[in-house]
Amino acid sequence: MLVLLKAGTPESVASDVMTRLRMAGLAVHRTDHDGQARIAAIGEPGAVKFDEVEKWPGVEATQKLSRPFKLASRAFHPQDTIIQVGRCSIGSEQLALMAGPCSVEGEAQAFTIAEAVAKAGATVLRGGAFKPRTSPYAFQGLGEEGLKILRRAADAFGLAVVSEVMDSQQVGLLARYSDILQIGARNMQNYALLREVGHTDKPVMIKRGLSSTIEEWLLSAEHVMAQGNRQVMLCERGIRTFETYTRNTLDLNAVPVVKELSHLPIIVDPSHGVGIRNKIAPMARAAVAAGADGLIIEVHNDPDHALSDGAQSLYPTQFDELVAQIRTIAEVVGRRL
Ligand code: PEP
Ligand code: MN
Repeated sequence: MLVLLKAGTPESVASDVMTRLRMAGLAVHRTDHDGQARIAAIGEPGAVKFDEVEKWPGVEATQKLSRPFKLASRAFHPQDTIIQVGRCSIGSEQLALMAGPCSVEGEAQAFTIAEAVAKAGATVLRGGAFKPRTSPYAFQGLGEEGLKILRRAADAFGLAVVSEVMDSQQVGLLARYSDILQIGARNMQNYALLREVGHTDKPVMIKRGLSSTIEEWLLSAEHVMAQGNRQVMLCERGIRTFETYTRNTLDLNAVPVVKELSHLPIIVDPSHGVGIRNKIAPMARAAVAAGADGLIIEVHNDPDHALSDGAQSLYPTQFDELVAQIRTIAEVVGRRL
């Protein structure tokens, strides 16, 4: 249930409303919009009656929160969520440009790429230190050493960091080095991990599961938000379909659908979505045109020798050209870099 209070309701009255809802066994979350408090009361349907709540002091109206995701829904939070990460306000008119290698491979590689993507206009450096690889024999990442390198490279060029956390026991470690905690596609439904990142105050980026519906994905965001962390963004990275000419099928439908259903920012990852270097730029351009709040793109100085995802990594010069095109498209859709 969503309880809308009258504008200007004194805090003591608002607090009484929240207490009464809690006493009925409901979890209570509040947001304020245009001077009006909006309270989501979540729990057993029928725990309180809509028409009774409407008679309580301070209450203007009640609404049914009909979607299974509540805190992630636009009904609860009509204005776009904006998440400040370094120099970037993610979800605002400023597009978030995240770029870097699939995996951190060493100091020289990380610094070379960080310098190139910063010069091109990126504000966030991506790089995996703990890698979810399909094969146990493939490079698994440099671990904490990789995180230290990534942090130093980002700091040297004024960038923020996004890196994947694979395990709930690693959350504290990742939170020490990374500005955004990335939940990988394979872990989108790892609810213990979602709960753990929900207890931090770090922005979280949830990649869409390989075979997940938009609703399941938004419910993963809900798991994080229900623990108190409201700084959640989504990342469309392609889903599994019957198509085999591309690594995945980048579902750009998700951009306008998520924008309508939710107030959370949505980032698009054309690198994993397509998997083929010369098809990354067209899909990145399309994502921005479709209204994405940002891009995350794999860039490597020597993709032929990359330890992961070289075939989908852009050369720095290609990334540079892409950013110039993105600037032009951004302007048409009322955004900027
Ligand atoms: C990655 O970002 O390198 C990655 C492993 O992504 P995903 O979880 O989308 O496969
Ligand atoms: Mn990758």
